[in-house]
Amino acid sequence: MRPSSTDTAPYVARVEKIEADNKSNIKVRVRWYYRPEESMGGRRQFHGAKELFLSDHYDVQSAHTIEGKCIVHSFKNYTKLENVAPEDYYCRFEYKASTGGFTPDRVAVYCKCEMPYNPDDLMVQCDGCKDWYHPACVDMSIEDAKKLDHFMCADCSSEDNIKKPERTFPASPLANGKVRYILTNFTSLRLDYAMFLIPLTACSLG
Ligand SMILES: [Zn+2]
Ligand SMILES: [Zn+2]
Repeated sequence: MRPSSTDTAPYVARVEKIEADNKSNIKVRVRWYYRPEESMGGRRQFHGAKELFLSDHYDVQSAHTIEGKCIVHSFKNYTKLENVAPEDYYCRFEYKASTGGFTPDRVAVYCKCEMPYNPDDLMVQCDGCKDWYHPACVDMSIEDAKKLDHFMCADCSSEDNIKKPERTFPASPLANGKVRYILTNFTSLRLDYAMFLIPLTACSLG
């Protein structure tokens, strides 16, 4: 939908209902998607450029404000896209505008930096522990990481009796079992991600 100024990215909303008033003006009832920078916690490093949150904020707008159609993918489907078009977005969280809360309330994290997956960033999987790593976090350039067929993190390569790996990388961390989680209450998450780690046994992600 058309933003108020031309240098702003378009607003994204889900159309819930289309109706005409008694003067035949077409109105749409919409449910807004929020961009990370519009949420209370702001944009964070793991938020992708095309990430949106489905909010609980509804509105009625003139149908004239609609600029075009876009597609909001599930996170999993988005990571499988071969090419991301300008109209492709994804949503992995619902967002409560009044409290800044997210649903689901936890998210898987990867790498030494304990970060949720940002689909814009390349990650490599360790053949040993199966965790995923940002090349920068393991002192590797992105160019080198792209050329890799196999990768062993420092912890795993220091252990001698690792079984021979069977396969190369799946496409993304989502293809892998979920490992560790943090609470998605990012507004209180300023200092230390590790403080919010939850034991695996306590987790079930819908
Ligand atoms: Zn990292
Ligand atoms: Zn490893």
